[in-house]
Amino acid sequence: MEQKDLLKEIISHCKEYGYVFPSSEIYDGLAATYDYGQLGAELKNNIKTYWWKAMTQLNSNIVGIDSAIFMHPTTWKASGHVDAFNDPLIDNKDSKKRYRADVLLEEYLEKQTQKIQKEVEKGEKRFGDSFDKTQFIATNPNVLRIKEKQTQVQERMKTALNESNLEDLRQLIIDLEIVCPISGSKNWTEVRQFNLMFSTSLGSVAGESSTIYLRPETAQGIFVNFLNVQKSGRMKIPFGIAQIGKAFRNEIVARQFIFRMREFEQMEMQFFVKPGEELTWYEHWKEARKKWHLNLGLGEKNYRFHDHIKLAHYANAACDIEFNFPMGFKELEGIHSRTDFDLKQHELHSGKKLQYFDPSTNESYVPFVIETSVGLDRMFLSVLSASYTEEKLEDGSERTVLKIPAALAPYKIAVLPLIKKDGLPEKAQEIMRMLHLDYTIQYDEKDSIGKRYRRQDAIGTPFAITVDHETLESNTVTIRNRDTMTQERIAIESLPAFLNTHCSWSSLLGALA
Ligand code: ATP
Repeated sequence: MEQKDLLKEIISHCKEYGYVFPSSEIYDGLAATYDYGQLGAELKNNIKTYWWKAMTQLNSNIVGIDSAIFMHPTTWKASGHVDAFNDPLIDNKDSKKRYRADVLLEEYLEKQTQKIQKEVEKGEKRFGDSFDKTQFIATNPNVLRIKEKQTQVQERMKTALNESNLEDLRQLIIDLEIVCPISGSKNWTEVRQFNLMFSTSLGSVAGESSTIYLRPETAQGIFVNFLNVQKSGRMKIPFGIAQIGKAFRNEIVARQFIFRMREFEQMEMQFFVKPGEELTWYEHWKEARKKWHLNLGLGEKNYRFHDHIKLAHYANAACDIEFNFPMGFKELEGIHSRTDFDLKQHELHSGKKLQYFDPSTNESYVPFVIETSVGLDRMFLSVLSASYTEEKLEDGSERTVLKIPAALAPYKIAVLPLIKKDGLPEKAQEIMRMLHLDYTIQYDEKDSIGKRYRRQDAIGTPFAITVDHETLESNTVTIRNRDTMTQERIAIESLPAFLNTHCSWSSLLGALA
């Protein structure tokens, strides 16, 4: 399936089966805002649990907190968000539509890539079996010309963005004759910086209100609590603080489903280390986070690890973990060595010391920080994009199946009495009662067994237990595997051990411990 079609299929599948709905849909929705439905909420909670347990349960030196979304406004001055958390925006004077200047340029570059693809297709047609794609791309004059132009544009855009040269950013749009997709005109305004933080006011008495922000990241809630946690938890460096929570950004180009939203969730961990040891810990966390992702079994080829060449002013090393989303490889997680920038900034703005006293050397210092930051919603989309499969079966029929890692699936088991009589529903209920303290279970007795299996495939339930007449005689059931569709007969008393091996938290976390 074409990658773009895949996104459409996933969006409609999510809506049809209760994973994700457009927010406030009865009022025609709200742009870039989504609600997680009954299955989506379960999957999201399971992804959170996988992260939380891997961080806090498997590392005795990492603890988790849950800080407030509202923070003292000076927090955002200190962190640099008030002054520098901006996107460069440009308006088209005819359509009155607003765009991100860098996105207009990226779309231009993407069009050039498509042109190269067209040249390659032409070459393929012309040369048939003897076509050598690598050689064609390296030598065809048209391809080389487009590539050279692309490189020039990329370089100029990068420099303009890095130097906040908004005039040149605009000039580049003009020079490339980029038109507004709505009006078709080149009638552009100046480029202006637009802060991404949402603000609101606190206090109900007129005149007494002050501007506060909805947090654009969860990390600052960790930094301001660094000493509280260190002292109350008697934490010794190195140690980490983890947090999962909502973050808000007024993204102008918010699209691509739940990949870029204005309200989203982050799972962030700040790891505090002794200055000088940060790059060793940075490498440690890069590896640990890779392992965490690969452990889900979504396919190694779906990940790309990309080191940043140009670093933010406060970082001394950074990389992204990218995932092969239906829109191509895009950032899923960032790992950053943030030096002592944040804690020092908070010291400066609060006038409070945020230092660690090292009892072994009798010295105090501001620790350095390694940050791992992953978007929960992007994790959700990565799981769904890798799991969504349309299969043609041997008998010619088709099925849509979500091959979600078993421990993350909303329902772990479906319990299905073969028919609605002869005591089979009662036996099925008995099995449910035996398992439901440990696992989420769906009971279904409607329609043919084949239809019921398809329904469970479509929502990603890894195992279906069928209760038949033999069950009543021998206390055994058939258990069907969602991915292979094979069935085996097992004793009811073996079910807990079977499920423990295949879909418990320990089955997933075991390889990380
Ligand atoms: P991008 O370049 O894609 O805007 P970013 O570099 O600004 O992302 P960070 O500030 O590093 O992102 O945030 C950490 C993580 O939070 C990202 O890796 C991503 O998974 C997630 N994230 C950031 N912005 C959004 C958003 N608007 N919607 C959903 N998830 C987001």
